[in-house]
Amino acid sequence: MHKHVFLAALLLAPPLSARAGDTVALTFDDLPGLTLHNSQPYVNDANARLLDGLKRHGFPAIGFVNEGKIADMDRTQQTALLEDWVAAGFDLGNHTYSHESPNKLSARAYTADILKGERVIRPLLESHGKTLTWFRYPYLETGPTKKKKTDIEAWLKDHNYRIAPVTMENSDWMFSEPYDDAVTRKNARRVAKIRAEYLAYTDRTLTLYQKAGRALFGRDMAYVMLLHDTRLNADCIDDLADILKRHDLGVVTLEQAMADPAYQTPDTYVGKDGLEWLERWSRGLNKDLPWDDFKDPPKDIQTAYTRLDTDR
Ligand SMILES: [Zn+2]
Repeated sequence: MHKHVFLAALLLAPPLSARAGDTVALTFDDLPGLTLHNSQPYVNDANARLLDGLKRHGFPAIGFVNEGKIADMDRTQQTALLEDWVAAGFDLGNHTYSHESPNKLSARAYTADILKGERVIRPLLESHGKTLTWFRYPYLETGPTKKKKTDIEAWLKDHNYRIAPVTMENSDWMFSEPYDDAVTRKNARRVAKIRAEYLAYTDRTLTLYQKAGRALFGRDMAYVMLLHDTRLNADCIDDLADILKRHDLGVVTLEQAMADPAYQTPDTYVGKDGLEWLERWSRGLNKDLPWDDFKDPPKDIQTAYTRLDTDR
């Protein structure tokens, strides 16, 4: 009898090794689209595919908008893309108007650029019963001096913004322009090669971030993953979903991820570098992260990116 109860208890209780698992919030920067060329049909297509894919997998997501991009192409269609995101149930955040860095602008000019970046999205979200809440720093650059950093943070707080950190990323931006180039040239072999390289790199990088999170906090954590609003991610969404599943990463909303107490760790980093938050925290906590296995994207991707990128 006793033994029986014991066995039942063993069966009901989760085994010692069981864990709830890590989770991840998917965040897409540079809406209404990051593409090599300013082609409205291409951007429309990329967004439609991405939104379809996210809906198909039942993934929540948030898109971070540069309203300056609206004027780069057809204003009506660019705005309609943002409406598509909200209508599909996704959230939007502010990513500044012109994708500038506090390394280049004064705190005053930088925050003016943030304010300029909410003219379309604030009323758009409100018309759907939502409130503009989230801010994402372009390049993850938060201010080169303590004064500038805290001035910007104080402004954000004053304007009821919450900072959206990044604790997982896969350098997707570096793969996306070579990918756009291959797609535009209809070079199917190259398209397939870049996709394979991108997915292998993502798989590898996620392993490292999960190791790093565990090294910092000694437990499962909720990650916030930086991706971009690109044709590459739209085309790879099923493969990305497989990778997340293999890594035991359940997809949650940004709000849910941010409920992880890890995000209350102070970000004490001051400097010009665009660091993700695990790195920022590790410096504040004086803990080394296991980045020894870190590798940059493949050489051919780096070379192609450098050749194609005229932006920065
Ligand atoms: Zn960006």
